[in-house]
Amino acid sequence: MVDPGHGGDDGGAKGPRGLKEKAAALEIGQAVAAKLEAAGFEAVFTRDDDTFIPLWDRARAANAQGADLFISLHLNAARTRAARGSEVYFLSLGKGDDDEVVAAENAGAGTAPTSADSVVASILDDLAQKAFLQDSERLAVAIQGQLNRLAGIKERGVKQAPFIVLRGAAMPAVLVEVAFISNPKEEEKLKDAAFRAKVADAITRGVRRYFAQANGSVRRRTVAGPG
Ligand SMILES: [Zn+2]
Repeated sequence: MVDPGHGGDDGGAKGPRGLKEKAAALEIGQAVAAKLEAAGFEAVFTRDDDTFIPLWDRARAANAQGADLFISLHLNAARTRAARGSEVYFLSLGKGDDDEVVAAENAGAGTAPTSADSVVASILDDLAQKAFLQDSERLAVAIQGQLNRLAGIKERGVKQAPFIVLRGAAMPAVLVEVAFISNPKEEEKLKDAAFRAKVADAITRGVRRYFAQANGSVRRRTVAGPG
């Protein structure tokens, strides 16, 4: 499930020359879906146009589709204009590594699951992600590594934060801050389809690496097990 952040009245962050996060995230999402499809995966969207979708509904849509992975796409903003590169997050059940990023991305949450839904459904929704944290971290590491190579950044690691959009996802789930829309150079790059294709390639390589490792560990278990 490819989840372009924000949409509709929720524009997200804005670049110094006016590029809106919601527009760049949608274009990156379309590029990611195309590369995933070319690599043999099936890609579906939470949104494929300029529509606002409440955060809780995004994970619900992924659950309803039976998606194997949930990848939320966003652009970062920082007061320091020089900040650059990609940050890949997975869910934290407690505090986050960067409160400012969390506040920006948790705006537009919509209604949390309540007992108005069935009680069982609300329990499943609210912390479905808890069972997938290890795999989500592995997916985050795989994607971060590829995006670091693309940006020429060596040591940046993955981060953890209490992003609402990830909480209800019943599958490995990450939030990718693809680039800093607040950095004039990265804002320019984001307008370039060739750059977006490179980002999409990097994310797709991360996904392939994630599945290759998962299959490898299944094989090893089979060989070592009884019978
Ligand atoms: Zn965002």
